[in-house]
Amino acid sequence: MLDTLRRIIQEVNAAPDLEQALNIIVARVCETVGVDVSTVYLVDINQRQFVLGATQGLRQSAVGQVKLPIDKGLVGMVYEREEPVNLEDGPSHPRYMFISETGETPYHGFLGVPIIRHGKVLGVLVVRQRQVRKFDENEEAFLVTLAAQLAGAITHAGATGDIARMLGTGGSNAAALTGLPGSPGVAIGQARVVYPPANLDAIPDRLVTDTDAEVSQFEIAVAAVQDDLRDYANRMSAVLPAEELALFDALLLMLGGDSLVGETIDRIRAGNWAPGALRETIAEHVRVFEEMEDSYLRERASDIRDLGRRILTHIQSDRVAAEEYYENTVLVGEDISPGQLAEIPIENLAGIVSASGSSASHVSILAQALGIPAVMGVDDMPVGRLEGQIIIADGYRGDVFVNPTELVLKEFVRLQSQESQLSEVLSEVAGQASETPDGITVPLYLNIGLVSGGSAEVHSEGDGVGLYRTEVPFLMQEQFPGEEQQLRIYRNALEAFAPRPVTLRTLDVGGDKMLSYFPVHEDNPFLGWRGIRISLDQPDIFLTQIRAMLRASVGLDNLTIMLPMISTVSELDIAITLINQAFGELLEEGESVVRPPIGIMIEVPSAVYQIKALARRVDFFSIGTNDLTQYLLAVDRNNARVAHLYQSLHPAVLCAIRQVVNDAQQLGKPVSVCGEMAGDPAAALALLGLGVNSLSMSVSNLPRVKWVIRSFAYSEARELVAKALELEDPRAIREMYNEVLELGGLGGLVRAGN
Ligand code: PEP
Ligand code: MG
Repeated sequence: MLDTLRRIIQEVNAAPDLEQALNIIVARVCETVGVDVSTVYLVDINQRQFVLGATQGLRQSAVGQVKLPIDKGLVGMVYEREEPVNLEDGPSHPRYMFISETGETPYHGFLGVPIIRHGKVLGVLVVRQRQVRKFDENEEAFLVTLAAQLAGAITHAGATGDIARMLGTGGSNAAALTGLPGSPGVAIGQARVVYPPANLDAIPDRLVTDTDAEVSQFEIAVAAVQDDLRDYANRMSAVLPAEELALFDALLLMLGGDSLVGETIDRIRAGNWAPGALRETIAEHVRVFEEMEDSYLRERASDIRDLGRRILTHIQSDRVAAEEYYENTVLVGEDISPGQLAEIPIENLAGIVSASGSSASHVSILAQALGIPAVMGVDDMPVGRLEGQIIIADGYRGDVFVNPTELVLKEFVRLQSQESQLSEVLSEVAGQASETPDGITVPLYLNIGLVSGGSAEVHSEGDGVGLYRTEVPFLMQEQFPGEEQQLRIYRNALEAFAPRPVTLRTLDVGGDKMLSYFPVHEDNPFLGWRGIRISLDQPDIFLTQIRAMLRASVGLDNLTIMLPMISTVSELDIAITLINQAFGELLEEGESVVRPPIGIMIEVPSAVYQIKALARRVDFFSIGTNDLTQYLLAVDRNNARVAHLYQSLHPAVLCAIRQVVNDAQQLGKPVSVCGEMAGDPAAALALLGLGVNSLSMSVSNLPRVKWVIRSFAYSEARELVAKALELEDPRAIREMYNEVLELGGLGGLVRAGN
């Protein structure tokens, strides 16, 4: 049965539309299970009914015509129970309902399985037998597997309006596809589906004799790609801050480095033609990165793939003619690259919808920097069928509407106009103090390091840098960067923000951030060798980094050092001993280094309960709520399947933060929060109430949070958090804060519209 199943699934996947997919299923099910009737009922949730979507064995004229109430009959029972109903004699069951319109004679054997996607029943697949028949376990498993397959096809069809047409409810569709918020805002426009410019994987090997000519053709193509990238960077320089532009530098660096270009040339010299040699090199690099299962490196893999395609396009000399873009273009793709984004004139770009990726992907980081709404990870999206369709992308909720109804469209047009009012309000807080109406100042710092250092002009808003993730420059190298190289990188950031403080966090790799040149294979990487644990086991790497940090601050003296993943006091003692050692050595070498404040991240539950012991050893704490949430709730922060359980406004997380703040305050040590929670307007209000002293966030979230701080008195925030802590459910806490923001006139910060 396995082979049959595979064959049917292939056929269904290749079907051009839902109607044909359903017909294939019902026909193959009849053949394979040997039944008299096979039918698919589709749920029309608005009318609370089933519509017969396809049949083999009943009258074809019944398709689209026969409608059953959603709560009646055996089919209704499958819907309610969300599990298979297997009856050897259907008519003897009290829920049985005879349907004359289908031309049914009473059938006895009945097996119905629900078609479920993301917890929602989309339809029911039913088989029937004239005789009394109990379907066996294998047959039931076969139908369950097919139903799971069908669920994907139905979701795709829902997005393109196929279902609405089949159900006779018009060509447009009101259901949203669900993805992840990538960049806030609402986009309305026409889909421009972007494909990889050249299909590198399809290139065959070919022996050549004139390898010099091949090498020179390849080098010309590389130079052309370098020109393109510089061109894009120039075009984007007016709208993107310097550190986001550095992404293009990183791509150029890859092209300039020895590995990609050098290895391809070696392969050409060994006799392969340029496209084949390029394919091999790119595939090898992509494989290495993808095997690391690390989100940062996965991004690198798609960058490398993109570079490969670009070079190939030039080699093939069939450069894509300058494309016409819609006035409001929503870029749609399986895996949109920063390069594809850069190709479109910014005035035409309304939004971005990507089938893969998350808010940590380069594309969404660029979208945030550009202020363009983006939805990522819409895995149910039928990308190939969306060109030219009207798309609404809601970057707050992560929803995408394809070919929406008039009503939905009108509503989003209204929300969009309110959005532009919001950005006017937000721009008003620039330059104003981050102070509550009752006079409490809450410094707002920036999280940087995602692409490179920072520039003072762009970030003149922040009070300094609260988190510089130093692992990022490490991730972009092909080997551990040396002391001088690190010194330059850190100096850039310290200079850009001086005299404001810059908190450099020591190397935090491991978990999902793996260095290609320092691979670690573990069953449980988030509970394994990561953060400070690696630094202490490799004191050479740690000491080099500390020396570079201390030297970078000479004359500026605005450095603060922060240690990640501290889970036990002895780790901190050893780290401080090493910092003292580096400091002493530098003094001996005649460097005018100054001892910086040292703090730790609180991101492991054990640290929450040892604050007093830790406080005696450090100058400050910064709560890493991204990790603290995942460790407290036992929910992987990167796993989409459990993303609904990953709630930073969980009572347990709030209690942990309250305990950290209370204990730290008793010893006079300040507490900051630098996880994503700090940049979430609703959560920032909770953190204010818990008495957190400062917040650190990405630049795009800073005006929103400042608006919250300036709108709520500290005393009010304290009362609110006391109420929140009485609630038991994270959703109730979120709703409570959303309501408070709504009532305070700040609803636009948490959803579209005012
Ligand atoms: C955190 O865990 O909250 C944090 C800021 O660190 P990272 O996201 O880099 O793990
Ligand atoms: Mg962390």
